[in-house]
Amino acid sequence: MKLGIFGGTFNPVHYGHLRAAEEVCGKLSLDKVLFIPAGKTPFEKPETVSAVHRFNMVKTAIKGNTRFQISDIEVKARGKSFTVDTMKKLGKLYPGSELFFILGIDAFLDLPHWKQPDTLLNLSHCVVTSRPGYTFTDLMPSPYLRHVSRAVLRKMDAGSMDLFCFDISESQKCFLCRVTSLNISASYIRNLIISGENIKYLLPDSVESYIISHKLYKK
Ligand code: ATP
Repeated sequence: MKLGIFGGTFNPVHYGHLRAAEEVCGKLSLDKVLFIPAGKTPFEKPETVSAVHRFNMVKTAIKGNTRFQISDIEVKARGKSFTVDTMKKLGKLYPGSELFFILGIDAFLDLPHWKQPDTLLNLSHCVVTSRPGYTFTDLMPSPYLRHVSRAVLRKMDAGSMDLFCFDISESQKCFLCRVTSLNISASYIRNLIISGENIKYLLPDSVESYIISHKLYKK
């Protein structure tokens, strides 16, 4: 099985996340994408709602998509979950599966600050998706893209190439993947709610209803 792993705070989940996951799933012929909402973290921002709410919002957002699944692996963990540890657990939970770790350019740029990034890149393939506000050329200084030419990154940015694959570690590959640009972020949605504006069409109706009925993100 080819299994996509899509982690995030999902505070809240929105169409930017869902569309990116859908397109990666199609372009790489994945069998499933597993959404993994992050659990409670010691350095959590005050605006981060509880892991249970974030989990429930992802659950309702992906309902009806047979290729999307949710995992409570990080939500139910006690302390902070590091992605590398989660990936080791997933490797045991899904023996024989090929894992594809999906993350946006912004998250990939932050990777060197994560726990054991080199180990992480040996445990799964990684899929770096485009995201408004970032270009593939921004990845140029990354130590992991040493062997990727600027010309390739420019082609990805220009749209004349929408998928590029290279070896990122001894056993794993990295895919650069263009997805439809949806300039949506969870922080933008939270700010709209705080200013009393509506959030329609930025996320699924069921998530909007959940936010309203639980009075989330209101100051
Ligand atoms: P915040 O605004 O609170 O920082 P966010 O919208 O970036 O949140 P996260 O839960 O932090 O959402 O993101 C999870 C993953 O989804 C990251 O890898 C991120 O790059 C990716 N992502 C988020 N928004 C988009 C988007 N609009 N298009 C493509 N990828 C996205």
